[in-house]
Amino acid sequence: MYKTNYHIHNELCKHAMGTVMDYADKAFECGFDIIGMSDHAPFRGNPYGFRMDFEEFEEYIFQVKEAKRTYEKRMKVLLGLEIEYMAKHRAYYDELREKYNMEYLILGQHFFDDGHGNELYVYDLPDTTGYVDYAKSVEEALGTGLFSMVAHPDLMFVHDFEWDYNCDKACDIIVDAAVKYGVPLELNANGVRKGKSRFVDGDRYPYPHFKLFEKISDAKVPVMINSDCHQLKELDDEAMKMSHELVKEWNLIYQDVLELR
Ligand SMILES: [Zn+2]
Ligand SMILES: [Zn+2]
Repeated sequence: MYKTNYHIHNELCKHAMGTVMDYADKAFECGFDIIGMSDHAPFRGNPYGFRMDFEEFEEYIFQVKEAKRTYEKRMKVLLGLEIEYMAKHRAYYDELREKYNMEYLILGQHFFDDGHGNELYVYDLPDTTGYVDYAKSVEEALGTGLFSMVAHPDLMFVHDFEWDYNCDKACDIIVDAAVKYGVPLELNANGVRKGKSRFVDGDRYPYPHFKLFEKISDAKVPVMINSDCHQLKELDDEAMKMSHELVKEWNLIYQDVLELR
C-alpha cells in the first residue's frame, strides 16, 4: 500500500501557510510515496475569492513542476487542482487539461449551480432543500468524466439541520453517481480535524458524516483519505490517523492510488 495524499493547499490560496516546496519537503520527510498538489483552482476574473488569482496560475504550475523535479524518483508529485464544477465553465476544464496540463482535477463544490441558474455557496444554504441541488451538481460533474475524485462530498453537513428526506436523497444521488461513474469519494481529514461537536442529529464531525459513509459502505464505493491541509503540520497529523481508523470502523474500502483521468 502506498502512502498518498492528493489534497494539499499552499499559501497562494490566501488562506493557507507554506509554499508548494514546503509541503513537498514535509511530505518527503513524512514518508509519502505520492502527493498531489490540489490548490483551489483560479478562474478568470477571480469571481470566487479565497484562492489564487488567475494571474498567479503560471507561478503555481512553475512551483509544482519544481517540486516534481526536486523529488524525481524519490516521491511522485502531481500537478492538480481542487475545483468547482459549473456547466458554464465547461470550456475552461478542457483548457486546464489540454493547455495547462493538469494531471488531475478533484471536484470540490464550495460554489455550485442549483440547476435553476443560481450560483450558490454551500455555507449559505438556508435549509436542506439545497442539499439535493448540491448533490445533483456533483452528479452532473461526474458525468463529464473530468474529475478523478470528489473532495468532501458531505460538506453540506457543516449545517446544523435535522436529518431529513433531503439529506438521504442528496447522499443517495452522490453515492449512485460515484458508482455509475467509478469515481472514489473522499473521507476528508480536515473535517475530522475540526473535531466532533453537538449537532441536532448527534455528536459528530461537521464532515465526514457517518450517515453518508454508511451508504458508501453499502454501495462499496472506494474511499480516499486526504489531509486537505492548509498548514504544514496538518499534512500527516492525528486527524489523518483518525481518518484511517474511521475506514475500519465504518467498514469502508480504502483506495490508496488515484486513477488519473
Ligand atoms: Zn482551502
Ligand atoms: Zn481543499
